[in-house]
Amino acid sequence: MNIGKLYIIAAPSGAGKTSLVKAMVESTPHVRVSVSHTTRGIRPGEQDGVNYHFTSVDGFQDMLEKNMFLEHAEVFGNYYGTSAHWVREQLNKGEDVILEIDWQGAQQVRSLMPDAVSIFILPPSLEALRERLIGRATDDLSIIERRMSQAVSEMSHYGEFQYLVINDEFDLALRDLQTIIRSQRLSINWMQHYKEDLIKGLLG
Ligand code: GDP
Ligand code: ADP
Ligand code: 5GP
Repeated sequence: MNIGKLYIIAAPSGAGKTSLVKAMVESTPHVRVSVSHTTRGIRPGEQDGVNYHFTSVDGFQDMLEKNMFLEHAEVFGNYYGTSAHWVREQLNKGEDVILEIDWQGAQQVRSLMPDAVSIFILPPSLEALRERLIGRATDDLSIIERRMSQAVSEMSHYGEFQYLVINDEFDLALRDLQTIIRSQRLSINWMQHYKEDLIKGLLG
């Protein structure tokens, strides 16, 4: 039975979604993050298979033709996609899965899996966003400008998501994310499954 919950997290580049999701996964049991496939170049400090599965355009097209992606999209001129097999496998094991994807991917996943919970992360200001992209020191200035110019159009989709988290103070934003997951785990459907024996015992 499929009991894991699927979370979709989107944000403009630099808003802090990768850092928040990492902290989230480290602090919460039964949450896994999907490692996407991408055709973008590897950044200093990134590891293949950890941050992304780095793939050639041909390799990506091949996977696309074989229907291996749950969703895919072109973002900033690169292709990104989520492995359908890995996600389904985790959900079937009862693990919750987080997808860090853009708004286009979010739309695809929502229509395929309407029970997915979607969260949008906003930065506290455009200035802070720029500072974070510069401070991360992984992209050169032309790439940062390109990401900044895309930020407003990415953010314009925030209303398609169920939850909104402002990543001003990191620890507060992390607590907000943890609270969203916690509340899903207290929902009646999930508790009926997870606490089946307790409830049976109480009701006879
Ligand atoms: P970052 O946003 O600065 O971490 O830069 P990335 O190059 O890692 O990601 C660029 C954009 O692609 C972000 O908006 C991500 O949300 C999006 N993205 C990453 N992985 C996926 C994916 O598997 N599917 C889709 N649709 N978008 C993705
Ligand atoms: P994204 O995955 O959304 O592109 P990252 O997680 O890579 O964003 O964060 C971008 C940069 O901003 C990183 O250098 C990160 O350490 C920093 N950062 C994230 N959250 C905060 C915050 N609340 N306050 C200050 N800096 C932050
Ligand atoms: P514990 O491991 O202490 O039983 O549970 C810790 C947290 O993980 C709780 O919030 C609980 O709701 C959640 N949890 C426990 N087992 C599962 C599971 O099999 N699947 C998922 N998705 N969450 C679980």
